[in-house]
Amino acid sequence: MSTVLTAKDIETIIAKGGDPKSLPADAILTPSAKDALRDYANARRSPASAGASSAPAKQLNSKSSKAELEALFNSPYCHGLKEQLCDIGRRLWGRAYVDGNGGNIAIRVGEDIALCTPTLVSKGFMKPEDMCLVDFEGNQLLGTKKRTSEILMHLQIMKRQPKAVATCHCHPPYSTGFAVAGLVPPTCMIPEYEVFASVAIAPYRTPGTPEMGKLVADLSDKHNTILMANHGVVSWSHNSVEDAYFKMEILEAYCRTVLVTAQLGVPAKTMTAPQLKDLLKIKQSLGIPDPRHGLKECELCDNDEWRPGVACAAPVPQDATVGLDSDAEKTVQAITDQILAKMK
Ligand SMILES: [Zn+2]
Repeated sequence: MSTVLTAKDIETIIAKGGDPKSLPADAILTPSAKDALRDYANARRSPASAGASSAPAKQLNSKSSKAELEALFNSPYCHGLKEQLCDIGRRLWGRAYVDGNGGNIAIRVGEDIALCTPTLVSKGFMKPEDMCLVDFEGNQLLGTKKRTSEILMHLQIMKRQPKAVATCHCHPPYSTGFAVAGLVPPTCMIPEYEVFASVAIAPYRTPGTPEMGKLVADLSDKHNTILMANHGVVSWSHNSVEDAYFKMEILEAYCRTVLVTAQLGVPAKTMTAPQLKDLLKIKQSLGIPDPRHGLKECELCDNDEWRPGVACAAPVPQDATVGLDSDAEKTVQAITDQILAKMK
Protein backbone atom coordinates (compact mmCIF):
# COMPACT_ATOMS: atom_id res chain seq x y z
CA MET A 1 0.00 0.00 0.00
CA SER A 2 1.36 3.47 -0.83
CA THR A 3 2.35 5.82 1.97
CA VAL A 4 0.60 9.17 2.40
CA LEU A 5 3.06 11.90 3.40
CA THR A 6 2.04 15.17 5.02
CA ALA A 7 4.00 18.43 5.42
CA LYS A 8 4.92 17.26 8.90
CA ASP A 9 6.48 14.07 7.49
CA ILE A 10 8.54 16.13 5.03
CA GLU A 11 9.70 18.42 7.84
CA THR A 12 10.72 15.40 9.92
CA ILE A 13 12.76 13.98 7.02
CA ILE A 14 14.54 17.35 6.57
CA ALA A 15 15.10 17.75 10.32
CA LYS A 16 16.77 14.31 10.41
CA GLY A 17 19.11 15.37 7.59
CA GLY A 18 17.41 13.16 4.99
CA ASP A 19 16.81 14.11 1.38
CA PRO A 20 13.08 14.69 0.90
CA LYS A 21 13.53 14.34 -2.87
CA SER A 22 14.32 10.62 -2.57
CA LEU A 23 10.89 9.53 -1.36
CA PRO A 24 9.34 6.15 -2.15
CA ALA A 25 8.17 6.22 -5.79
CA ASP A 26 4.59 5.36 -4.81
CA ALA A 27 4.37 7.93 -1.98
CA ILE A 28 1.26 10.10 -2.11
CA LEU A 29 1.87 13.72 -1.13
CA THR A 30 -0.79 15.89 0.47
CA PRO A 31 -1.02 19.48 -0.95
CA SER A 32 0.77 20.83 2.14
CA ALA A 33 3.53 18.23 1.70
CA LYS A 34 3.98 19.41 -1.90
CA ASP A 35 4.26 23.01 -0.64
CA ALA A 36 6.86 21.93 1.95
CA LEU A 37 8.88 20.19 -0.78
CA ARG A 38 8.72 23.24 -3.01
CA ASP A 39 9.83 25.55 -0.17
CA TYR A 40 12.73 23.19 0.53
CA ALA A 41 13.80 23.23 -3.13
CA ASN A 42 13.49 27.04 -3.33
CA ALA A 43 15.54 27.55 -0.16
CA ARG A 44 18.30 25.36 -1.58
CA ARG A 45 18.16 27.19 -4.91
CA SER A 46 18.33 30.63 -3.32
CA PRO A 47 21.98 31.31 -2.55
CA ALA A 48 21.34 35.08 -2.66
CA SER A 49 19.76 34.85 0.75
CA ALA A 50 22.22 32.28 2.08
CA GLY A 51 25.79 33.03 3.06
CA ALA A 52 28.28 32.64 0.19
CA SER A 53 31.90 31.76 0.91
CA SER A 54 33.82 34.85 1.93
CA ALA A 55 35.85 37.15 -0.31
CA PRO A 56 39.54 36.35 -0.82
CA ALA A 57 41.91 38.27 1.46
CA LYS A 58 43.82 39.81 -1.46
CA GLN A 59 41.84 42.24 -3.59
CA LEU A 60 42.65 41.77 -7.26
CA ASN A 61 42.40 44.36 -10.01
CA SER A 62 42.41 44.47 -13.80
CA LYS A 63 46.24 44.49 -13.81
CA SER A 64 46.49 41.28 -11.74
CA SER A 65 48.04 38.30 -13.54
CA LYS A 66 45.84 36.15 -15.76
CA ALA A 67 46.51 33.18 -13.44
CA GLU A 68 45.34 35.14 -10.40
CA LEU A 69 42.22 36.35 -12.19
CA GLU A 70 41.44 32.82 -13.37
CA ALA A 71 41.87 31.47 -9.86
CA LEU A 72 39.47 34.10 -8.55
CA PHE A 73 36.96 33.55 -11.37
CA ASN A 74 36.94 29.78 -10.69
CA SER A 75 37.02 30.04 -6.87
CA PRO A 76 34.17 28.86 -4.62
CA TYR A 77 33.71 32.54 -3.70
CA CYS A 78 33.01 33.58 -7.30
CA HIS A 79 30.97 30.45 -7.89
CA GLY A 80 28.70 31.52 -5.02
CA LEU A 81 28.34 34.97 -6.58
CA LYS A 82 27.60 33.48 -10.01
CA GLU A 83 24.84 31.43 -8.41
CA GLN A 84 23.51 34.60 -6.83
CA LEU A 85 23.41 36.24 -10.27
CA CYS A 86 21.39 33.26 -11.58
CA ASP A 87 19.09 33.42 -8.58
CA ILE A 88 18.41 37.15 -8.95
CA GLY A 89 17.92 36.63 -12.70
CA ARG A 90 15.26 33.99 -11.97
CA ARG A 91 13.51 36.36 -9.61
CA LEU A 92 13.57 39.21 -12.15
CA TRP A 93 12.16 36.92 -14.84
CA GLY A 94 9.62 35.31 -12.50
CA ARG A 95 8.21 38.70 -11.62
CA ALA A 96 8.17 39.81 -15.29
CA TYR A 97 10.67 42.58 -14.61
CA VAL A 98 12.61 41.50 -17.72
CA ASP A 99 11.52 40.65 -21.23
CA GLY A 100 13.31 38.74 -23.95
CA ASN A 101 16.99 38.81 -23.03
CA GLY A 102 16.61 42.24 -21.36
CA GLY A 103 18.03 43.20 -17.98
CA ASN A 104 21.51 42.72 -16.57
CA ILE A 105 23.22 42.40 -13.20
CA ALA A 106 26.77 42.97 -11.95
CA ILE A 107 28.73 42.32 -8.74
CA ARG A 108 32.06 43.95 -7.88
CA VAL A 109 34.75 41.35 -7.13
CA GLY A 110 37.88 43.52 -6.91
CA GLU A 111 39.20 47.06 -7.14
CA ASP A 112 38.12 47.58 -10.76
CA ILE A 113 36.71 44.22 -11.83
CA ALA A 114 33.18 42.84 -11.76
CA LEU A 115 31.22 39.71 -12.54
CA CYS A 116 28.30 40.31 -14.86
CA THR A 117 25.55 38.56 -16.77
CA PRO A 118 25.96 37.59 -20.44
CA THR A 119 24.21 39.16 -23.41
CA LEU A 120 21.42 37.42 -25.35
CA VAL A 121 20.38 35.08 -22.52
CA SER A 122 17.05 35.27 -20.69
CA LYS A 123 17.71 36.29 -17.09
CA GLY A 124 15.38 33.49 -15.97
CA PHE A 125 17.55 30.72 -17.40
CA MET A 126 21.20 31.62 -16.77
CA LYS A 127 23.78 29.14 -15.50
CA PRO A 128 26.83 29.99 -13.34
CA GLU A 129 29.12 29.11 -16.25
CA ASP A 130 27.44 31.81 -18.41
CA MET A 131 28.88 34.64 -16.27
CA CYS A 132 31.63 37.00 -17.40
CA LEU A 133 34.46 38.89 -15.71
CA VAL A 134 35.05 42.46 -16.93
CA ASP A 135 37.29 45.37 -16.01
CA PHE A 136 35.79 48.78 -15.29
CA GLU A 137 36.35 49.89 -18.90
CA GLY A 138 34.05 47.09 -20.01
CA ASN A 139 36.80 44.85 -21.44
CA GLN A 140 35.93 41.20 -21.01
CA LEU A 141 38.66 39.38 -19.05
CA LEU A 142 37.12 35.93 -18.62
CA GLY A 143 34.01 33.90 -19.39
CA THR A 144 32.96 32.04 -22.51
CA LYS A 145 29.75 33.97 -23.20
CA LYS A 146 29.92 37.62 -24.32
CA ARG A 147 29.23 40.16 -21.57
CA THR A 148 26.04 42.25 -21.55
CA SER A 149 26.10 45.26 -23.87
CA GLU A 150 24.75 47.47 -21.07
CA ILE A 151 27.66 46.80 -18.71
CA LEU A 152 29.13 50.32 -19.09
CA MET A 153 26.23 51.78 -17.14
CA HIS A 154 26.82 49.36 -14.23
CA LEU A 155 30.56 50.01 -14.29
CA GLN A 156 30.19 53.77 -14.36
CA ILE A 157 28.03 53.55 -11.24
CA MET A 158 30.65 51.34 -9.54
CA LYS A 159 33.47 53.71 -10.55
CA ARG A 160 31.56 56.68 -9.23
CA GLN A 161 30.42 54.91 -6.01
CA PRO A 162 33.33 52.99 -4.49
CA LYS A 163 30.91 51.48 -1.97
CA ALA A 164 28.57 50.09 -4.67
CA VAL A 165 28.99 46.31 -4.48
CA ALA A 166 26.25 45.39 -6.93
CA THR A 167 23.99 46.82 -9.62
CA CYS A 168 20.78 45.57 -11.17
CA HIS A 169 18.97 46.69 -14.32
CA CYS A 170 15.56 45.60 -15.60
CA HIS A 171 12.35 46.79 -17.26
CA PRO A 172 9.53 46.37 -14.70
CA PRO A 173 6.35 47.58 -16.45
CA TYR A 174 4.84 49.92 -13.86
CA SER A 175 8.13 51.64 -13.03
CA THR A 176 9.02 51.80 -16.71
CA GLY A 177 5.61 53.39 -17.31
CA PHE A 178 6.65 56.23 -15.03
CA ALA A 179 9.98 56.40 -16.88
CA VAL A 180 8.18 56.64 -20.24
CA ALA A 181 5.89 59.36 -18.89
CA GLY A 182 8.94 61.19 -17.58
CA LEU A 183 7.56 61.17 -14.02
CA VAL A 184 9.37 60.43 -10.79
CA PRO A 185 6.75 58.78 -8.54
CA PRO A 186 5.25 61.12 -5.92
CA THR A 187 6.41 60.71 -2.35
CA CYS A 188 4.94 60.49 1.17
CA MET A 189 2.75 57.45 0.52
CA ILE A 190 4.53 54.24 1.68
CA PRO A 191 7.34 53.95 4.29
CA GLU A 192 9.22 51.14 2.46
CA TYR A 193 9.72 53.33 -0.59
CA GLU A 194 10.82 56.35 1.44
CA VAL A 195 13.37 54.39 3.46
CA PHE A 196 14.94 52.06 0.89
CA ALA A 197 14.66 53.77 -2.48
CA SER A 198 15.92 57.16 -3.65
CA VAL A 199 14.52 57.62 -7.12
CA ALA A 200 15.46 60.02 -9.91
CA ILE A 201 15.01 59.97 -13.67
CA ALA A 202 17.77 60.09 -16.29
CA PRO A 203 17.05 61.37 -19.81
CA TYR A 204 16.92 58.91 -22.71
CA ARG A 205 20.08 57.88 -24.52
CA THR A 206 20.81 54.78 -26.59
CA PRO A 207 21.15 51.83 -24.16
CA GLY A 208 24.73 50.67 -23.68
CA THR A 209 26.40 53.95 -24.69
CA PRO A 210 28.95 55.64 -22.41
CA GLU A 211 26.73 58.72 -22.47
CA MET A 212 23.83 56.77 -20.93
CA GLY A 213 26.20 55.42 -18.29
CA LYS A 214 27.42 58.89 -17.43
CA LEU A 215 23.90 60.31 -17.03
CA VAL A 216 23.01 57.50 -14.64
CA ALA A 217 26.30 57.72 -12.72
CA ASP A 218 25.80 61.47 -12.28
CA LEU A 219 22.55 60.75 -10.43
CA SER A 220 23.99 57.93 -8.30
CA ASP A 221 25.54 60.25 -5.68
CA LYS A 222 22.12 61.00 -4.25
CA HIS A 223 19.99 58.19 -5.68
CA ASN A 224 20.18 54.39 -5.54
CA THR A 225 17.32 53.67 -7.96
CA ILE A 226 17.33 55.47 -11.29
CA LEU A 227 14.55 55.46 -13.84
CA MET A 228 15.89 55.69 -17.38
CA ALA A 229 13.47 57.55 -19.65
CA ASN A 230 11.85 55.30 -22.29
CA HIS A 231 13.84 52.31 -21.07
CA GLY A 232 13.73 50.89 -17.51
CA VAL A 233 15.39 51.10 -14.11
CA VAL A 234 18.88 50.59 -12.68
CA SER A 235 19.69 50.30 -8.99
CA TRP A 236 22.85 49.95 -6.91
CA SER A 237 23.52 48.72 -3.41
CA HIS A 238 26.29 49.06 -0.88
CA ASN A 239 25.14 45.76 0.72
CA SER A 240 24.53 42.97 -1.78
CA VAL A 241 23.10 42.05 -5.16
CA GLU A 242 19.91 40.93 -3.44
CA ASP A 243 19.60 44.37 -1.89
CA ALA A 244 20.02 45.97 -5.34
CA TYR A 245 17.22 43.67 -6.54
CA PHE A 246 15.03 44.60 -3.55
CA LYS A 247 15.01 48.20 -4.83
CA MET A 248 13.26 46.89 -7.94
CA GLU A 249 10.57 45.10 -5.95
CA ILE A 250 10.05 48.15 -3.76
CA LEU A 251 9.86 50.60 -6.68
CA GLU A 252 7.62 48.37 -8.80
CA ALA A 253 5.19 47.64 -5.94
CA TYR A 254 5.13 51.35 -5.17
CA CYS A 255 4.36 52.40 -8.75
CA ARG A 256 1.51 49.87 -8.89
CA THR A 257 0.14 51.14 -5.60
CA VAL A 258 0.31 54.76 -6.75
CA LEU A 259 -1.63 53.89 -9.89
CA VAL A 260 -4.29 52.04 -7.91
CA THR A 261 -4.56 54.97 -5.50
CA ALA A 262 -4.95 57.35 -8.43
CA GLN A 263 -7.98 55.40 -9.66
CA LEU A 264 -9.91 55.37 -6.41
CA GLY A 265 -11.53 58.76 -6.96
CA VAL A 266 -10.35 60.41 -3.76
CA PRO A 267 -7.16 62.35 -3.14
CA ALA A 268 -4.45 60.20 -1.55
CA LYS A 269 -4.01 60.67 2.19
CA THR A 270 -0.30 61.20 2.38
CA MET A 271 2.14 61.19 5.27
CA THR A 272 2.86 64.46 6.99
CA ALA A 273 6.24 66.14 6.74
CA PRO A 274 7.19 65.20 10.35
CA GLN A 275 6.29 61.56 9.59
CA LEU A 276 8.48 61.64 6.50
CA LYS A 277 11.27 63.28 8.46
CA ASP A 278 11.24 60.28 10.85
CA LEU A 279 11.61 57.87 7.93
CA LEU A 280 14.48 59.89 6.48
CA LYS A 281 16.28 59.63 9.81
CA ILE A 282 16.09 55.83 9.54
CA LYS A 283 17.28 56.04 5.92
CA GLN A 284 20.28 58.14 6.86
CA SER A 285 21.20 55.73 9.67
CA LEU A 286 21.18 52.87 7.12
CA GLY A 287 23.67 54.77 4.94
CA ILE A 288 21.19 55.12 2.07
CA PRO A 289 21.59 58.31 0.04
CA ASP A 290 18.71 60.73 -0.46
CA PRO A 291 18.76 64.30 -1.74
CA ARG A 292 16.28 65.22 1.01
CA HIS A 293 18.66 64.46 3.87
CA GLY A 294 19.07 67.73 5.75
CA LEU A 295 16.01 69.46 4.27
CA LYS A 296 13.54 71.26 6.54
CA GLU A 297 10.19 69.58 7.19
CA CYS A 298 8.36 72.22 5.17
CA GLU A 299 10.44 71.35 2.10
CA LEU A 300 9.76 67.61 2.18
CA CYS A 301 6.40 66.60 0.68
CA ASP A 302 5.80 67.13 -3.04
CA ASN A 303 2.37 65.65 -3.59
CA ASP A 304 0.56 68.87 -4.33
CA GLU A 305 2.52 69.16 -7.53
CA TRP A 306 1.56 65.71 -8.77
CA ARG A 307 -1.62 65.20 -10.74
CA PRO A 308 -2.25 61.60 -11.67
CA GLY A 309 -3.65 61.57 -15.20
CA VAL A 310 -6.32 59.02 -14.36
CA ALA A 311 -7.59 60.40 -11.06
CA CYS A 312 -11.07 61.75 -10.66
CA ALA A 313 -10.83 63.82 -7.52
CA ALA A 314 -14.27 65.51 -7.88
CA PRO A 315 -16.73 64.20 -5.25
CA VAL A 316 -19.96 62.75 -6.67
CA PRO A 317 -23.04 64.69 -5.40
CA GLN A 318 -25.36 62.58 -3.18
CA ASP A 319 -28.42 62.86 -5.43
CA ALA A 320 -26.64 62.59 -8.78
CA THR A 321 -27.91 59.95 -11.17
CA VAL A 322 -24.87 58.19 -12.53
CA GLY A 323 -24.26 58.83 -16.22
CA LEU A 324 -27.11 61.36 -16.64
CA ASP A 325 -26.85 65.09 -17.08
CA SER A 326 -30.34 66.51 -16.41
CA ASP A 327 -29.88 69.65 -18.62
CA ALA A 328 -28.65 67.57 -21.54
CA GLU A 329 -31.53 65.11 -20.98
CA LYS A 330 -34.08 67.98 -21.15
CA THR A 331 -32.54 69.35 -24.37
CA VAL A 332 -32.54 65.92 -26.04
CA GLN A 333 -36.17 65.40 -24.99
CA ALA A 334 -37.20 68.82 -26.38
CA ILE A 335 -35.52 68.12 -29.75
CA THR A 336 -37.08 64.64 -29.92
CA ASP A 337 -40.53 66.14 -29.21
CA GLN A 338 -40.07 68.73 -32.00
CA ILE A 339 -39.00 66.08 -34.54
CA LEU A 340 -41.90 63.84 -33.63
CA ALA A 341 -44.34 66.80 -33.91
CA LYS A 342 -43.03 67.63 -37.44
CA MET A 343 -43.28 64.00 -38.53
CA LYS A 344 -46.95 63.93 -37.50
ZN1 LIG B 1 17.70 47.66 -20.61
